[in-house]
Amino acid sequence: MKKVLTAACILLLSAGALAATPWQSIRQPIPGDAQSIGAFANGCIIGAEPLPLNAQGYQVMRQDQRRYFGHPDLILFIQRLSTQVHTLQLGEVMVGDMGMAAGGRFSSGHASHQSGLDVDIWLQLPKTRWSEQMLLKPQPLDLVAADGKNVVARHWQPAIDSLIKLAAKDSDVTRIFVNPAIKKQLCADAGQDRDWLRKVRPWFGHRAHMHVRLRCPAGSTACQDQPLPPPGDGCGAELQSWFAPPKPGAAPVKREPPPLPPMCQALLDKHLL
Ligand SMILES: [Zn+2]
Repeated sequence: MKKVLTAACILLLSAGALAATPWQSIRQPIPGDAQSIGAFANGCIIGAEPLPLNAQGYQVMRQDQRRYFGHPDLILFIQRLSTQVHTLQLGEVMVGDMGMAAGGRFSSGHASHQSGLDVDIWLQLPKTRWSEQMLLKPQPLDLVAADGKNVVARHWQPAIDSLIKLAAKDSDVTRIFVNPAIKKQLCADAGQDRDWLRKVRPWFGHRAHMHVRLRCPAGSTACQDQPLPPPGDGCGAELQSWFAPPKPGAAPVKREPPPLPPMCQALLDKHLL
């Protein structure tokens, strides 16, 4: 009997993990002074702003998904980065998912991007602007070779180095996630100026985009920051460990989402009334 119950629970839990989340039904930001609440992977946001959709220097992809909201600091970061990229004539910054109007958990795609402080920026810098059709169905450029150990040489360009470096040097940015093969390439290209590499963290996936994360904004008292990445450029043993064969039996554990921070739960309860 116990076994049957356990199996039923697992079924229920996995169905729950795939279901649409109530956050998706919140179409407009929660009014109020901007406040990022909780953790990057378990939080929400009051007073989010939409990234202006028509602007020089960047383009926003998949606008139909309405994942272009964030803390005003995130909007400012994207504008700042795009201005720098534009000044250097590197191309157009392609903006992917930010967060939803009130943040919270997506029904698909990301565990984080919940508190209005994360943005995916694609690792391609087109010289001409994409059409509306292309923006709705953008084609990611896989920069990682099939063996997962190197970047694809014909797709890699110095402008991608510059884009990641500019983002990492921004004082509001605390972490940037890229595929280990991309980090390896950045390590090889960096030369003497290497401090910024500390913020660039190897992670699964992220073969066509970087995921940029900002620090908790001043005034967001309920926002939970992460500890700083370990000192150093992270180009040594830590990076190498990503290329080692997986240890037998070390299957990833799928955990259920933790309970929401009380402020986020209260927002949701009010919205669902
Ligand atoms: Zn992301």
